[in-house]
Amino acid sequence: MNKIPLIIATRNKHKAEEIAKILPEQFELHTLAEYPDAPDPEETGRTFAENACIKAEAISACYPGLVVADDSGICVDLLSGMPGIMSARFAGTHGEDMENNRKLLRELSALPGQAPYTARYVCAISLARGGQEIAHFEGRVEGCITLRPQGSGGFGYDPLFIPEGYRCTMAELSAEEKNRISHRARALELLEAHLRRMLNA
Ligand code: IMP
Repeated sequence: MNKIPLIIATRNKHKAEEIAKILPEQFELHTLAEYPDAPDPEETGRTFAENACIKAEAISACYPGLVVADDSGICVDLLSGMPGIMSARFAGTHGEDMENNRKLLRELSALPGQAPYTARYVCAISLARGGQEIAHFEGRVEGCITLRPQGSGGFGYDPLFIPEGYRCTMAELSAEEKNRISHRARALELLEAHLRRMLNA
């Protein structure tokens, strides 16, 4: 079987691992770990979709073939959708999960009596080739934030997020279960269906 090469435009190891587990074996996945000189464009978009597009277009302008980029985060209704596109750097420094979680808990604790703190994870995926986006997809998972962090799986805000229909946090789910219901899985399912259609066309 000829595998289809796909560059995943991320330096986030957790994300790359989740994406590799979700996409079928038909794809030959490469990540930016193999391209240390790849550009790292500023995420200046106002939405997840705009930021995913910026990344996918910048990387695909430099390398041949299909490039997939995602931008994701958590949106809390009581905080008017924050952290949103600021999820990775909510507390100031990019990728400081513990600090980000502490800041979210501080902000929600200052609003007592307003639970459940409804929220959703959102994942936007952009598919690009030759510096141009050719398709984009979005996946969401609804849930709420608990003020008592639980679990050690996943990453980021997972210990604080209880998906709808569950009694435990995302960080307490097995990797398989998270990858079945997550925002990223939903967006990747749409990407996969699109790639299959493209290949069969
Ligand atoms: P990005 O790398 O700019 O897309 O930032 C994504 C940020 O959103 C991460 O650093 C996490 O804080 C948060 N995030 C996105 N997806 C997840 C997830 O599946 N679990 C937990 N946090 C996530």
